[in-house]
Amino acid sequence: MARFLWDAADLFVLGHECAHFEMSHRGPPRPALTRLGAARAANCYGQELQADELGLSISSWSLHSSREADTAVSSLGAWMFFAAWEAYELSTAILAAGSRARGERDLAQRRAVKDLDAYPPLRERKAQLFRTVKASGAVDPAVLTRLWWCFDIALQYLLTYTAAHAEVMVGKVGTAAVPSLPPTPTHGPGVRA
Ligand SMILES: [Zn+2]
Repeated sequence: MARFLWDAADLFVLGHECAHFEMSHRGPPRPALTRLGAARAANCYGQELQADELGLSISSWSLHSSREADTAVSSLGAWMFFAAWEAYELSTAILAAGSRARGERDLAQRRAVKDLDAYPPLRERKAQLFRTVKASGAVDPAVLTRLWWCFDIALQYLLTYTAAHAEVMVGKVGTAAVPSLPPTPTHGPGVRA
């Protein structure tokens, strides 16, 4: 099961990047996109949400074709990616601020800013994708809700452990070990574009 989840997370990331290409998010619109009449989101904020949706569609199709996985289960790949990123975001915020309370406050302030020229806050992406899958007709909404709810409970334990670990690290090495690349305005942990 763990192997499946990490494979699904990898496929979601690949699907997300393929979606940027398919939707011509970088560079001029490609002729096929124009012919098919697909609407390309106008700003970075919308393009990320669009790439999440199409990316999940691509990864779900792949997992259904290769492993007969249904869409609700495949969507946990996206959940895994968002969970890993949330743990990273929290730990770097605590390491930068020097305490859990200040780190969480800084993170909340960053998440409250809506900038259409930047990436959407992580939790907005996750919530938007959940709503889209739930309304797609491709899954039983009750099954999807139960699955994500159970995983979200596990996530709270992961984040608690992550925060405690980050505070221990602050005590040992101070805030000097903080990565210079901020997580929120980038594409993912330490990766731009
Ligand atoms: Zn993207």
